[in-house]
Amino acid sequence: MKSYTEYMWFNTKNRREFINITSEVEEAVKKSGITEGLCLVNAMHITSSVFINDDEGGLHKDFDAWLEKLAPFGKEKYSHNLTGEDNADAHLKRTIMGREIVAAVTKGKLDFGPWEQIFYGEFDGMRKKRVLVKIIGE
Ligand code: ZN
Repeated sequence: MKSYTEYMWFNTKNRREFINITSEVEEAVKKSGITEGLCLVNAMHITSSVFINDDEGGLHKDFDAWLEKLAPFGKEKYSHNLTGEDNADAHLKRTIMGREIVAAVTKGKLDFGPWEQIFYGEFDGMRKKRVLVKIIGE
């Protein structure tokens, strides 16, 4: 079995952003030389996510509005923020949107349905954050 590891770095301009990282992950699969296996992509911070969905701007606005309704940004609303932090909402948003994705690699490519794309979801940005890509197989 072969394995390949890569780290991707992000430093978003805004506090909250969704970034399509599909082509970077496809590039990592290519570099790995693995043709049959699994590809894990996970956020290494507890206030950001990696998830799979449609690359459609309206949907991304809907995600943002929905998350803001469930866990609105606001310092005084949360016990976590009594510690001096202001990112309780980002921890909750991350939990809803998920830590990681696992995708099958078949014949050297991500084996996706027609509309599946991989996104990095940032909920407490404007600082350096890391994502792990690990590909295993043969
Ligand atoms: Zn925190």
